[in-house]
Amino acid sequence: QDTGLRDPQLLKCCSYINGRWHHSEPTLAVTNPANGEVIAEVSNAGIAETELAVSAARNAFKAWSAKTANERATLMRAWFNLVMENQDDLGRLLTLEQGKPLAEAKGEIAYGAGFIEWFAEEARRVYGDTIPAPSGDKRIVVIKQPVGVVAAITPWNFPNAMIARKAAAALAAGCTFVVRPATQTPLSALALAELAERAGIPAGVFNVVIGDDAKGMGKVLTQHPDIAKFTFTGSTPVGKALISQCATTVKKVSMELGGNAPFIVFDDSDIDAAVDGALVSKYRNAGQTCVCTNRILVQQGVLNEFTEKFTAAVAALKTGDGLAEGTQVGPMISSDAVSDVEALVQASVAAGAKVVLGGAKDGSGDAFYQPTILSGVTNEMPIAKNEIFGPVSPIIAFEDETDAIAMANDTDYGLAAYFYSRDIGRIWRVAEGLEYGMVGINEGIISNAAAPFGGVKQSGNGREGSKYGLDDYLEIKYLCMGGL
Ligand code: ADP
Repeated sequence: QDTGLRDPQLLKCCSYINGRWHHSEPTLAVTNPANGEVIAEVSNAGIAETELAVSAARNAFKAWSAKTANERATLMRAWFNLVMENQDDLGRLLTLEQGKPLAEAKGEIAYGAGFIEWFAEEARRVYGDTIPAPSGDKRIVVIKQPVGVVAAITPWNFPNAMIARKAAAALAAGCTFVVRPATQTPLSALALAELAERAGIPAGVFNVVIGDDAKGMGKVLTQHPDIAKFTFTGSTPVGKALISQCATTVKKVSMELGGNAPFIVFDDSDIDAAVDGALVSKYRNAGQTCVCTNRILVQQGVLNEFTEKFTAAVAALKTGDGLAEGTQVGPMISSDAVSDVEALVQASVAAGAKVVLGGAKDGSGDAFYQPTILSGVTNEMPIAKNEIFGPVSPIIAFEDETDAIAMANDTDYGLAAYFYSRDIGRIWRVAEGLEYGMVGINEGIISNAAAPFGGVKQSGNGREGSKYGLDDYLEIKYLCMGGL
């Protein structure tokens, strides 16, 4: 298929290992979720190629970690510049394989690039410590060193940014990197590799292996003795299995897992602002982000007003192919994903929820589901208990602040939460009471490279982005200098 890229060389069709494109047969078809058409056939790599990539990263580690922070920063800056120069093509490729509207896809490219830029700068600020010693003939010095080879497994919902966010921190710290992206969306990952090569990042430092043997390749990436750290973004059940696999070689682990984000609207909130916030927080990427609003909790006094205004705003959203002008909600990743959402909606309607808007497949194609609103939902219904990962807003009514906090926290997840209020006392009480890693206060979009992204409870551990984001890729070494 003609992808319409200005630079057709950005469409790569095989794994990138040790600075080489690794052709093999058979191939995997990459399809466009908007229409089911095949965009490209990509070589299907497996365990052997994954091991090859790990050994390439192992061999490249010595020279990459020995570079000065400044040298690494300069190469990363060049990579950032190339990503931004090719933002239009990368956005187009992302929409083709993932489905999100083009404006969102280009936004993701800039967001992902933001981490490369951020960590290129942070590379220069890996400071150590000196500590007062317990006796006069000693000195205590703390230095930080890269952990070693980093392995990553990433999901399809942010095919660029979930890789950039991990790789940028790893490379800045002096680590080398192997990623296995989701097979639904390999093209964005491979385009990043092509640009890393053009930027002059040395062979073996950034490796991408594409293959559908998730379990087999996952075993290599979680158990290989040459890998020091494993980082994963994906679902909680898979994350749990991978953590236990990492135990066999005591790897450092970071996990960005599922969420069940509450979006709380208090009586004293600016309702129009809350409607805008809920709209972007819920419907971007057709509801397929781990920080998407999963439950809208609305205080009784503003329940009718919020529901009416929110319904009008959601009804006005334009659904369609992400490449079509004006599309606000694209397809879901697959028709299977649509079936999962359908089942959750049906089970909740059977349990007493009412469909205010949507509630069915969308005529635009097999992978489309209508932007949907359910009212009369309780915190016990399946739609509130599970991560929806689709364009459905369950509205749950509550009486008071204590209720809202208790309902919001009544989940095993703890990634993002949102609430709207103009009362400064309430803002502090609720912000401190929510058991979540990130809280948006009068804000529906909170992710950026300067801020620490991550969850608590079963949403994971570790933080990505911000000044804290390098910590997961660095070891602390204590030097005791005696005999002075
Ligand atoms: P989702 O597909 O809903 O985003 P998953 O957790 O299933 O969430 O997938 C996230 C990533 O983990 C994908 O790249 C997927 O291929 C990979 N994956 C799924 N199951 C396993 C497994 N058992 N071992 C290793 N990787 C896996």
